[in-house]
Amino acid sequence: MGVEAVVRKSCNLIPVPDLLQTESLLVIQPHPDDLEIGAGATVAKLIRAGKKVSCLTVTDGAAGTYNSKVGGRELAATRRAESEAAAKIIGLKTMQWLNFPDGGNLDYDEIRASITSVIRRLKPETVMVCDPWLPYEVHSDHIRTGLAAAEAAFLAGMPRFYPADLENGLLPYAVKMVAFYYTAYPNTFIDVADTWLLKMQAIDCHVSQFSGAKAEELKTLLQARAAALAVESGAELVEAFKVLSPGHLHIFEDAWLS
Ligand SMILES: [Zn+2]
Repeated sequence: MGVEAVVRKSCNLIPVPDLLQTESLLVIQPHPDDLEIGAGATVAKLIRAGKKVSCLTVTDGAAGTYNSKVGGRELAATRRAESEAAAKIIGLKTMQWLNFPDGGNLDYDEIRASITSVIRRLKPETVMVCDPWLPYEVHSDHIRTGLAAAEAAFLAGMPRFYPADLENGLLPYAVKMVAFYYTAYPNTFIDVADTWLLKMQAIDCHVSQFSGAKAEELKTLLQARAAALAVESGAELVEAFKVLSPGHLHIFEDAWLS
């Protein structure tokens, strides 16, 4: 048996959890449009299947413009309203905001502590977040949010990790799986033909980010990728995720192949 075959066998030693079997989900997004772009159709599908889904937005979105005449506070308010309109379409009822400043200077320890508290309060079986190991990703809000959320999901069950939570009445809580959207290493392909239009309509709510030709370009790109990902599975449109258990998330060399 060659080295590659041995590694492939090793990566199966920890089973990949089934995202569709989860009963509750906390979706964490760096900015107020990432959920819709990265996972909107799957989130809508899970909500329609009766799963309990909450959304946590880490930044206020105040830096998301190329127009120097738009003020940060004004943009943050606009984006929150756009996000709430999109949530109605997706079916999301629980929206929480950490309101850290948008734009690449997130304090890693602060966001990890905040996310840990939210996990301990909401007790989701699954944490969904952007993949911090996406090659060539340059936006540090995405890299730090993804890593902080994954680390928080991994450690939230340990009482000595942010023990101040316990003094505030929260208990340690162990997450069962982490699902990464915006991933280059997908292992889970969700058939989302039934909820695809909801994703498109939700993206259309984010007028401050995408309108006119830019919105059409984004939706065309997303649909082409969803169709390409669907080819092997026989589905029509697919959203792809890297789903890992806590056991994959520390000293497991073959997790990237799992
Ligand atoms: Zn973003």
